[in-house]
Amino acid sequence: MKSLKENFQKAHIVIIGSGIIGKFNALELSELGFQITIIDPTEPKNSSYAALGLLMGNMYQKRKGRSWDLRKQSIELWPQWIKSLQKFNSELNIENPLIQLTTNEEKFKKLEKFIYENNDQNLRILERDSIFIKNINKAFQTKNIKGIISLKDGRINPSSLLQTLNKYLRHKKINFSEGEVIKIRKTNNHWISTTRNNEKIKSDIVILCNSLKAVDLIDSISHNITLKPVLGQAMEIDVNDAEVDLLSLPKQFNINSKNIIPKSKNKLIIGSTDEYSTKPEENTFEKLTNFLDKKPNWLMKGKISKKWYGIRSRPDGEPSPIMKNLEDGLIICTGFYKNGILLAPACSKWVANEIKKYLL
Ligand SMILES: Cc1cc2nc3c(=O)[nH]c(=O)nc-3n(C[C@H](O)[C@H](O)[C@H](O)COP(=O)(O)OP(=O)(O)OC[C@H]3O[C@@H](n4cnc5c(N)ncnc54)[C@H](O)[C@@H]3O)c2cc1C
Repeated sequence: MKSLKENFQKAHIVIIGSGIIGKFNALELSELGFQITIIDPTEPKNSSYAALGLLMGNMYQKRKGRSWDLRKQSIELWPQWIKSLQKFNSELNIENPLIQLTTNEEKFKKLEKFIYENNDQNLRILERDSIFIKNINKAFQTKNIKGIISLKDGRINPSSLLQTLNKYLRHKKINFSEGEVIKIRKTNNHWISTTRNNEKIKSDIVILCNSLKAVDLIDSISHNITLKPVLGQAMEIDVNDAEVDLLSLPKQFNINSKNIIPKSKNKLIIGSTDEYSTKPEENTFEKLTNFLDKKPNWLMKGKISKKWYGIRSRPDGEPSPIMKNLEDGLIICTGFYKNGILLAPACSKWVANEIKKYLL
């Protein structure tokens, strides 16, 4: 019988969880020719569909360490992936630029320092008389908003991205199974993933991409990993006020840590919160609009037309994300409480390299 090494491309890989991380891993590994099965019971309810899709890579101020390395690699990989994904959806794109704003003088000084020290043509301070700053201050009825622009950061529409990934994965003949995995165990060099319906799926490798629930499938004594749930909320607001034209604002920006995406002249999306919780409270509007000392009238009068949330996983006691080779043929890729969309390409590259090392 041929060994797994000789049968490199015949290896069967099970990916548990079909959020952005599971899908990107499937994509990366399918390019290497592996047979892949993704298992997930409730895919469209995951936190990836709830995301706003901002890709804050170049704006990240810490320019060393693992976090920066993952960002840097993802920034490089995204344009290549967009090109491949456009074969399945020609409209899929990253909309640039991304604007980061603050009303806090100290935070602005830090941003200024970051820009001067980095000397990157794609990162600039927004001048007081720039059209962006003028329109933003006018719309938010203040004079105090200042910030920076990153020409290379931007936004991708998450649901469009996830649907396009599904098309790509189907084209690559990836198997989708709708089960909830309740147990994984190793027997004779194979992994058996058992679903709640008692379906048993045999594979050579298992990758845990099922966010918070990943820890339920591993031995807590050998692998000391703790994940905490982080709630992220977002809402779409209808603004029925002739005094503001939301389309005069940039396409995507962030003020005092709230992300804002104008959708039309009188509709905008605001997100997201980051509290340790699994249940949204009733005061979503208050929480998401408290980014300025004084709200403009049109925002105060705004009405929520849609609201949604997602539960993400944050590692406790170690940095996010968790990417580990737990034992032969078992990899965990979880703990993306923020920036999972941005980091997906670099993380799946890491997983693919680990698998190559294991098999070759
Ligand atoms: C409101 C909001 C806004 C956000 N905005 C941004 C943003 O602008 N930019 C950005 O980069 N990130 C953003 N994020 C973060 C981003 O959404 C996450 O980092 C990312 O979605 C994590 O992806 P994931 O694949 O790890 O998890 P998920 O998308 O949650 O996927 C995990 C999957 O595992 C499945 N699963 C669980 N248990 C099992 C089991 N036992 N068997 C099988 N399957 C299982 C679940 O059904 C789920 O589909 C935002 C998040 C929220 C909530």
